Amino acid sequence: MGARTTPESPSKEKDAADPVNKTKTDCKDEKKCWVDDYDKEISTPSYGRYSQPYKKDGTKHAYTDKVQYKLYAPVKTGTEITIEIKFKVEKQADVTDADVTSAKTKLENGVNTYWDNKFTLEADDPECGKKSFKIRYKIVWVDSGQHYTIKVHKTYAREGVSGNVMNVSKTTDDWTYAHEVAHCFGLPDEYSYTTDDETVKYYKPDGTLDAAVSAPTFKAKDAADATIMSSVNNLTVLKRHQWYVAIETQELLTAKLGRKIKCDIK
Ligand SMILES: [Zn+2]
Repeated sequence: MGARTTPESPSKEKDAADPVNKTKTDCKDEKKCWVDDYDKEISTPSYGRYSQPYKKDGTKHAYTDKVQYKLYAPVKTGTEITIEIKFKVEKQADVTDADVTSAKTKLENGVNTYWDNKFTLEADDPECGKKSFKIRYKIVWVDSGQHYTIKVHKTYAREGVSGNVMNVSKTTDDWTYAHEVAHCFGLPDEYSYTTDDETVKYYKPDGTLDAAVSAPTFKAKDAADATIMSSVNNLTVLKRHQWYVAIETQELLTAKLGRKIKCDIK
């Protein structure tokens, strides 16, 4: 009959791994920090999510839309968050291939000049700390599978984005493309479509609404609060114009990581 004895602790032996401490070490090593790269096709209403236009009496405009683009968030290997928009160009009557080539160049110039590489997104993971990414824009020209169709006309009186179609004149300039492409990624006009002085509010990345932006029918280009979204040829772009990137990125990271990630624009 074997006598029962109290087993010796494994850690009593020299060089034996202590199971308790080993577990602690593994947990530290397994902390999931920036473990993967992510991307997502975005297809969403912008009104009620990125911004909200209001009538003169303070009630909400019932504007509806759906914006489409692709978000790249390579938080493991990259240093940039990229907004990619795929465009298909359809030339209308009396528009040449050279006009189309020119339109593409002007659109790319407009996006590069006014939107690309202007702001930084800061992602804050409660378990891993903060990591910063430059916000970049990438235009891709396609024959199918586009996010938006651009119809290039000989002349088009009221250029703009309607549904997922952008109508422009072949003579349209870089600035106009920069403004219209901003509608494609979900920014609102900061002017009123009525004769009233109205307002628009942007959603901040924390989900609350920012202070009202005045949106009169016409805002002078050199007004103190004029921006690229309010006044023709104004060059001002603000953090609020990139909050949508933070909104989408933090939602994507939160879903992937299973814990609340906060993003903001710096
Ligand atoms: Zn506009």
